[in-house]
Amino acid sequence: MTPGSSTPAPGGKPGNADQPLRVAIIGAGPAGFYAADHLLKQDDLNVEVDMFDRLPTPFGLVRHGVAPDHPKIKNVTKVFDRTAQNPKFRFFGNVTCGQHLTPADFRSYYHQIVYTVGAQTDRALGIPGEDLQGSHSATEFVAWYNGHPHYRDLKFDLSQPTVAVVGVGNVAVDVARILCRTVDELKETDIADYALEALAKSKVKQVVMLGRRGPAQAAFSFPELKELGKMDDAQVRVLPEEAELDDLTKKHLSETPDATAQKKVDLLQELAAAPDAGKSRDLAIRFLVSPTHITEKDGRVAGVDIVHNELYETDNGTMRPRATEKAEHFDCGLIFRSVGYLGVPLEGVPFHAKWGVIPNEKGRVTEEESHEPIVGTYCAGWIKRGPTGLIGTNKGDAIETVQCMLEDVKVGNVLKPEHPTADAAEQFIRQRQPAFFSYDHWRSLDEHEINLGKEAGRPRVKLTTVDSMLEALGK
Ligand code: NAP
Repeated sequence: MTPGSSTPAPGGKPGNADQPLRVAIIGAGPAGFYAADHLLKQDDLNVEVDMFDRLPTPFGLVRHGVAPDHPKIKNVTKVFDRTAQNPKFRFFGNVTCGQHLTPADFRSYYHQIVYTVGAQTDRALGIPGEDLQGSHSATEFVAWYNGHPHYRDLKFDLSQPTVAVVGVGNVAVDVARILCRTVDELKETDIADYALEALAKSKVKQVVMLGRRGPAQAAFSFPELKELGKMDDAQVRVLPEEAELDDLTKKHLSETPDATAQKKVDLLQELAAAPDAGKSRDLAIRFLVSPTHITEKDGRVAGVDIVHNELYETDNGTMRPRATEKAEHFDCGLIFRSVGYLGVPLEGVPFHAKWGVIPNEKGRVTEEESHEPIVGTYCAGWIKRGPTGLIGTNKGDAIETVQCMLEDVKVGNVLKPEHPTADAAEQFIRQRQPAFFSYDHWRSLDEHEINLGKEAGRPRVKLTTVDSMLEALGK
């Protein structure tokens, strides 16, 4: 149990006219905004939400994860904007949990704390050569091309003709597509300026995606696959023999039809049979292959050894890959590992290292040893359930967490902070991080970026350093 101080809330339980329920949400991505929205919607509860983010800008992966050529997905920020209009909502950007404020600080100012920090790193492949120069995680590349201030200075050797992307999830598809798009396609987007410049000079001719299972098990979604077939100057290549289903999958699909998987298989077979479109770039999607070794020349990536897999069925009916004797090698100078994101621990907050999540029950954070819920401490989004699902998946996930929070408020099972007022919290935050960004600051930055975009004929030009953001605000 981690109680705050013993000062009781005036009027008993917080959430009434005398004492609002004060909630801190750490992480301004979709899960954080959906949690804030559901809390602020409670008519019978007087609640105040302070949302924190280590970046000056809100929206998490909507700004720094969603691919720049997917602008419609980013429209969800209009919903978050409406939440932020609520006078009981405040945003404190450029405030890092663990640096400017600790979990103990939050407990002194809030009745409830919700961690919605997402999954900030990537899973490792665990094969030799993974750490060579030229081997990167997809998370780094995605954050780089999206103008994330912490990743903007990374360098990727785009002079390489062949690039491998390990994994066939939607992130791998994003990475492959961005590598294959033409400059004309990219300059219509809000991709970071420096990334546009680097990609304009790209010498990449071939991108090879490596799926460890078959076409029916591929993690990418159908619309994402379909989109690959419509790129201006790149064609998808699928080997006909790899587009064919293995006997086990055929049997499985005939016994348990899966319309979504079938649609993807049909399209992949169509792509495998398509004639050469004569485009300048190739995007090869391989199936039933796993990298076993990233080979080296002069200290950097030179190629990848891959082994062919076969599928077997586990006791719970899942198809898993296992290596066969057949192996091959291809030369490539750049590799992106896109095998899933992974949460990172926050000091003072329990963490399940293997799963990369905060241990919890329906969003109530639990002690690592005893599995007992920790008073007033919650989580939502990827740090709660792992890095799966689309942006909208976080809505139901956050609502589940908020339901637990509301149940706990009802029975008075909340923290008892020493300073449960908005003013006290703001004063304290100002002391720790005078350069915090409010939501009004964000609105000015947003307008500024859109105006820069208008001048350049683009939807927006992102500011990618904290200094340039401060400067734009006249600070
Ligand atoms: P993901 O969907 O879980 O895909 C991970 C991929 O890595 C799978 O192909 C997986 O294969 C493969 N993989 C895992 N371990 C591997 C290993 N050791 N060796 C080789 N391959 C391995 O994760 P994601 O692509 O990072 O996406 C995260 C979430 O964000 C997903 O829910 C995704 O749909 C969502 N997202 C959506 C969009 C969009 O809607 N446009 C865009 C980006 C992300 P197995 O299937 O065999 O495990």
